[in-house]
Amino acid sequence: MINNNQRNMEIYLDNAATTALAPEVIEAILPFLTTHYANPSSAHRAGRKVKDAVDQARRTVAGLLGASPEEIYFTAGATEGINLALTGAIRAYELNHVITSRIEHKAVLQTLKRHEKEGDIETSFVKLDERGNVDLYHLENLLRANPRTLIALMHGNNEIGNITDIHAIGVLARRYNAVFFADTTQTMGKIAFDLQHSDIDFMVGSAHKFHGPKGVGFIYINEKHELKPLIYGGGQERGQRAGTENVAGVVGLAKALEVSYRNLDESQAKVCKLKQYLISKLAISGIGGICYNGESKSIENSVPNVLSVSFPCLSSGSVVTQLDAVGIAVSGGSACSGGGASHVIQALACEADKENVRFSFSKFNTFEELDHVVDAIVRIYESDPAIATSKAWKSIASWA
Ligand code: PLP
Repeated sequence: MINNNQRNMEIYLDNAATTALAPEVIEAILPFLTTHYANPSSAHRAGRKVKDAVDQARRTVAGLLGASPEEIYFTAGATEGINLALTGAIRAYELNHVITSRIEHKAVLQTLKRHEKEGDIETSFVKLDERGNVDLYHLENLLRANPRTLIALMHGNNEIGNITDIHAIGVLARRYNAVFFADTTQTMGKIAFDLQHSDIDFMVGSAHKFHGPKGVGFIYINEKHELKPLIYGGGQERGQRAGTENVAGVVGLAKALEVSYRNLDESQAKVCKLKQYLISKLAISGIGGICYNGESKSIENSVPNVLSVSFPCLSSGSVVTQLDAVGIAVSGGSACSGGGASHVIQALACEADKENVRFSFSKFNTFEELDHVVDAIVRIYESDPAIATSKAWKSIASWA
């Protein structure tokens, strides 16, 4: 266990959960929290000015994604967008079959589970390989056997970082006349999109994942679709999502996306280097038995900012908790002390008796922070009573 005088750093490596606000975003938002507080639906000048800001934000988001402004609808985040895409499409098109995977976000899985329970749909789970990659042949077989299908698959996995080929899935969707929802929450602002040349019907973004504010997101609805709304009221967002707009949030979302795409190559190159650096530091840390989940170690096949690592179990408590005790924020799930691994890890061919730690970076992280993190992990292993006595961790060959 790390002692108290080592509690001196605050290092945030949980950027797949949420991110810090970018300084440009704070600046953009402030006037809409102070001076420009009118309701965008009001007909007076103050209201019109605020409505202009919402319209401009919509144009910015659309322009960055190659969509038209009429295809962008603001929501309270990705969970809401996902509910609207799935429930809205099932109801609008009376779809009775959905293809998804076992490693989707709970916002997808729970929404589909409810529809299945209510008898609206049957769900098919596409096969995944041992690393969590979608089997496209199986997907095609499922599509062939099931006309009137909704496909709900993610672009970047939030736990293991796997990238799914949404372009290939889009092509299959068109071929079999299916409707395709891509959960792009983890890739929005990190990977460029060109919706002019895409077969995606719906996708979502959530500002807090790309250095924007929490509680605001958007859904892209291809112009050929109209969904059945979940929320009825004053007709905002052209009837797809009623309720007074979160103006400051929407302005912040657009600014955050603009900043992300303006510096995309630079920030992604930095984040990739951070990931490679952590992998190389762990390789020489002396801790044996480390392995990487899914495709997260691969620079080509995973979201650059996610690294999911399996560590040998400790007797002194979890790595995540002990890192937290010294001011290092990471996420994880442990199968070590009887806790369950997440539904994502369970769907992979991972070793059962490991602790899974998700490190997720942003452009604001530094290499020095990663040095501190690896030092802290080494100290945790060195001081673990069981591991220190056996020194097993030094001798187990690395499976990385
Ligand atoms: N989908 C994925 C892949 C996510 O990672 C998340 C958030 O972690 C969500 C959906 C839900 O996003 P929100 O926090 O905006 O509701």
